Amino acid sequence: MPMFKKVLIANRGEVAVRVVRALRELDIKSIVVYSEADKDTLAVKMADEAVCIGPAASAQSYLSMPAIIGAAVSRGAEAVHPGYGFLAENAEFARACADNDLVFIGPTPKSIEMMGDKNVARETMMRIGVPTVPGSDGTLDTVEEAAKFADEVGYPVLIKASAGGGGKGMRVVESADQLESAFDAAKAEAGAAFGNDAVYLEKYLLRPRHIEIQVFADAKGNCLHLCERDCSIQRRHQKLLEEAPSPAVSPELRQRMGEAALKAVREVNYLGAGTIEFLLDIDGNFYFMEMNTRIQVEHPVSELITGTDLIKEQILVAAGEEISFKDRAPFMPNGHAIEFRINAEDPDNNFWPCPGTITSITLPGGPGVRLDTHVYAGYSVPPTYDSLIAKLIVWGSTRDEAIARGKRALEEFKVDGIKTTIPFHKKVLFEQDFEQGSIYTDYILTHEQLLA
Ligand code: ADP
Repeated sequence: MPMFKKVLIANRGEVAVRVVRALRELDIKSIVVYSEADKDTLAVKMADEAVCIGPAASAQSYLSMPAIIGAAVSRGAEAVHPGYGFLAENAEFARACADNDLVFIGPTPKSIEMMGDKNVARETMMRIGVPTVPGSDGTLDTVEEAAKFADEVGYPVLIKASAGGGGKGMRVVESADQLESAFDAAKAEAGAAFGNDAVYLEKYLLRPRHIEIQVFADAKGNCLHLCERDCSIQRRHQKLLEEAPSPAVSPELRQRMGEAALKAVREVNYLGAGTIEFLLDIDGNFYFMEMNTRIQVEHPVSELITGTDLIKEQILVAAGEEISFKDRAPFMPNGHAIEFRINAEDPDNNFWPCPGTITSITLPGGPGVRLDTHVYAGYSVPPTYDSLIAKLIVWGSTRDEAIARGKRALEEFKVDGIKTTIPFHKKVLFEQDFEQGSIYTDYILTHEQLLA
């Protein structure tokens, strides 16, 4: 297949800018779609072409398949990059692209389907011998069934939505008397959020780390991994800060987790960039949690420790090329990288969203500093979407150097007009457990002083 001449970006925010940049380096023209709320965003100014596809509400713009496919076809795009979120893991969209002679830059609809349902993915992993968190056999129809499995694995347990994502449809249950209300609540939330109320149950691991493996595969049979990311710093099961490599992963553990991840990749005939998420318990056992069949928000930390460009690679592989860095696998981490999610939220008020106009902004720079953003002075953050306004990523030859750079860069980074998570990240970098790499998914709950 000859290289694309024009690619449409079906997304917004920083990832749209990220893809425009990758396309430009590959000498491919970019078309970005946008909603009426996003006409002033950086991607619209930077792309070769921009098409308004509807009003602010995502359902009528970034989630509207006819509007996006229509724009791609009428403007002569040959491929569509879905970014992350919105339609990125929607098999129906991937199929609609193919039906309209558009290459979907991502895996096949079949792979998306095999991994999109978390319970099916879990069953697949069990079949091929990748460890999963102990829990129910399949989805649960009744609370009595849930009670049976909860008794088997022991409380606390976690009820999870099969179609889950973004922490929705998930409920921790401490004891049997809470099971019924949690079961009903998880089902109702999943039904409302995903149109699918199927739930299953897992043992709720105490103080795990969230460790995920970045994988990559091409259509020529090459598949490799690019080491792990540690995403244990979370609030309400949502990531806030990610780093690579993990302070808890030895070369030997990396190899075992990498092999388990690649088993999954081969099983679903995966293509392109993906992530296999695991929980790592205090005894060093790891358990498959889910696969994300798309590029992730935190991909830059992997790029910095492996010297790769995963977005360009996604585009090349979608056009039929072999993985350009296949001869460099197995990768060993080069140095250390940390990503800070800068959200338009008030960390002193429960991370309350703070949309509004950025009156002035000073961006950090200098050695080892990367900034991915779609905002600028005078830009108004709309209330309609995710609150991510920038990703600050720092690299150092050691974790200590990355932390020192992070402190320095966060100090340089000034945003006026709206509240952001910058002050929160600064406090984390000065906190002793973080400095020592002693971080678990309950970090925020056990370090409430950081929110004061
Ligand atoms: P979502 O897809 O909704 O983001 P995930 O399955 O990726 O949900 O889980 C998100 C987070 O929830 C994990 O990073 C972890 O912190 C927590 N979590 C998930 N499953 C478990 C479990 N069995 N035990 C403890 N924590 C869990």
